[in-house]
Amino acid sequence: MLSGKAAVLTASTRGIGLAAARRLARHGARVLVSSRRQDHVDEAVSGLRAEGLEAWGIPCHVGRGPDREALVAEAVRLFGGVDILVSNAGVNPHAGGILDCPESAWDKLWEVNVKAAALLVGLVAPHMEKRGGGSIVLVSSVAGYRPSFPIGAYGVSKTALLGLTKALAGELAPLRIRVNCLAPGFIKTNFSSVLWEEDGLRRELEKGVAMGRLGEAEECAGVVAFLCSPDAAYITGETVGVNGGIDCRL
Ligand code: NAP
Repeated sequence: MLSGKAAVLTASTRGIGLAAARRLARHGARVLVSSRRQDHVDEAVSGLRAEGLEAWGIPCHVGRGPDREALVAEAVRLFGGVDILVSNAGVNPHAGGILDCPESAWDKLWEVNVKAAALLVGLVAPHMEKRGGGSIVLVSSVAGYRPSFPIGAYGVSKTALLGLTKALAGELAPLRIRVNCLAPGFIKTNFSSVLWEEDGLRRELEKGVAMGRLGEAEECAGVVAFLCSPDAAYITGETVGVNGGIDCRL
């Protein structure tokens, strides 16, 4: 369903990003994966290629302008353009109360979680326009709906992505570029390991999930692929939650 499409993904050498890259490639896309570390990029690319998938990679710290430009330039060099962008990079530099969040942490949250996503969209949009359209998925979080202690500041940065999705969807619709958003709940990855490695805390979290378990990165990947596919041709500006029913507990 994505045969021949050119996909660029940030933060895609592990976790949700890597699972999304694998799923897009299994549907026929050529994928350019990226993250900060070259060794992570190499490992992800060789893993995907070992599965017979069409994958390339380049280091990209999304907070750095030259890295973002190099990422998009590499996609254009390899594929001749860009059809799909998955903006997945996110950091959480502060655990604690909002009022205790230092300015440096606010800066990082804004730069990596929000600003980089908007600027990357700005870099890929002209290439998508040349191809007659494209699809963008921003990765927010269930925390974006209800930011709260001890990750309130991170949650607020993810709320901004819900708004960014709406704003970009409106501005880019005339170019036939769709912009949607994924809001994962508790997904078992490195990023969230502090929440699930310790049995007691994990069980507490699971009590708040109607399905009674944490999610897997692969369970986010299908939503990303769907949003990028022709089946979602009339969907833009939407956020899809993947959280096992986090607000549905009796
Ligand atoms: P993960 O498994 O820990 O993977 C993080 C990936 O991001 C790695 O490939 C890492 O590689 C890369 N990365 C980190 N900082 C980066 C940066 N500044 N620039 C580019 N790449 C960077 O994390 P994950 O759980 O899949 O998280 C992915 C996204 O999902 C994040 O936006 C997160 O906020 C969101 N999310 C996660 C959960 C959850 O429960 N896991 C829930 C809601 C939302 P390098 O170290 O090589 O850079």
